[in-house]
Amino acid sequence: MQTNNIKILHGLNIIMVHKTPIVVVGNGLTAEVMCSALNYFGLEYTRLLSQRNDFVDTRTTTINIASQKMLSRLNLWSFSNKNSTEIRNILVSQYKFSENCFNRNSETSGLHFSLDGEIMAWTIENENLFKNCQKHNSKSPSLIENYYGNLNIEYTENGVVINDIRRKKWHTELIIACDGANSAIRESAGLRSTSMAANQEAIVARINLNRLHHNFAVQRFLPDGPLALMPIRTQEAALVWSLSKTKSANIFNLSEGEFKRKIINALGDSFKKMTLCSEKKIWGLKPSVTRSMGRPGLILAGDSNHSIHPLAGMGFNLALADVAVICDCLSSAKKNGLSFSHPSILSEYRARRRLEVEAIIALTQGLNRLFSYNSFKFKTFPSSLTNIGLGIMDSLPIKKQLAKIAAGGVLTSASLFSDV
Ligand SMILES: Cc1cc2nc3c(=O)[nH]c(=O)nc-3n(C[C@H](O)[C@H](O)[C@H](O)COP(=O)(O)OP(=O)(O)OC[C@H]3O[C@@H](n4cnc5c(N)ncnc54)[C@H](O)[C@@H]3O)c2cc1C
Repeated sequence: MQTNNIKILHGLNIIMVHKTPIVVVGNGLTAEVMCSALNYFGLEYTRLLSQRNDFVDTRTTTINIASQKMLSRLNLWSFSNKNSTEIRNILVSQYKFSENCFNRNSETSGLHFSLDGEIMAWTIENENLFKNCQKHNSKSPSLIENYYGNLNIEYTENGVVINDIRRKKWHTELIIACDGANSAIRESAGLRSTSMAANQEAIVARINLNRLHHNFAVQRFLPDGPLALMPIRTQEAALVWSLSKTKSANIFNLSEGEFKRKIINALGDSFKKMTLCSEKKIWGLKPSVTRSMGRPGLILAGDSNHSIHPLAGMGFNLALADVAVICDCLSSAKKNGLSFSHPSILSEYRARRRLEVEAIIALTQGLNRLFSYNSFKFKTFPSSLTNIGLGIMDSLPIKKQLAKIAAGGVLTSASLFSDV
């Protein structure tokens, strides 16, 4: 299907129908990278943006090694050392941290992940990646169009017909929905999504540790949810504190001084020099997965497909792997002269993504359920298991394997993950 516009006489009105092989829907980071990747593979698309809002993403994201390779290949990785901070060690504990928790050679309790001191991931600011993508995508020959209201979508034997409330109309072979955890496209297609709600929210803020973090990410599991610090620059950190909804509102509304005291109380006195250096924001957490990953004429990518708990810092990395695999599937369909709505595309996508998505969901849900027992109505694991603690896990051989999986590219391979 070539991109072109057809005029249809409808009563006395002329309706323009825009024909395009692929439609990408979404305003977030997955949609941005999806468009860059389609450009890279020479696949033509139209991007549909919902009306702009004043959404500003103040979060940071950890980008693992496989994802960094992919972003480099797509020319989206132009981060200076100031704008991307290496993570070389990850320390996870159920207990408060000691004074020397940022020292690689110290004996600290908990689970310590590293790849022998090599880089495991980077912390970047979401807004910086967003700007890189927008700059890159503004040079694309593909169309970007705004739509109004909810999209009305019909899946027919001859393709997919999309209408907005202002009677704009698009005709396509495939929609790639990147419209987030509350995906309206997924809902309207009637795809079943399994919710794994933990009744939690995450408070996000930037802090100055006023001491060197030596590229350590740390996370403490508390009964209401994990508190994570991702390193930024040399002595700052991005705080992501997941809490049950009842607690999060109380903590969010505390004064700056009281909030700071709560953090120090949770992490230990070794953090007593810390200061807040941003406003705090709150994010709802809605873990869910759509096992079908789409239907003929529709593929889900990123959080519209699977939204996971941020405790492993893997949500966006999974989204990037979705994008990489979708592009492989579409470019081989194009080579074989298949329409983009051919069922083999969705089957291949599902087969190549299932293992990693299920494994990361099992890991994040399992850890959250095991340790954040106050956030769940029913305690699934006995206290004795919780008490065995992460210290025991630290000595298990699976730890090295988990570190490799966290670095990406182990459970999913795709051409965008290969070295530049
Ligand atoms: C607190 C928190 C911390 C996280 N930390 C990490 C991490 O460290 N590593 C990691 O890999 N993942 C992390 N994640 C997960 C990651 O943020 C999501 O997987 C990722 O943002 C999904 O992108 P998306 O485009 O699919 O969905 P979304 O970002 O939810 O985008 C979908 C929709 O949201 C709206 N939207 C989003 N951005 C914009 C924008 N800039 N302008 C206008 N509208 C917008 C639009 O309606 C858009 O269509 C974290 C999630 C949370 C909640």
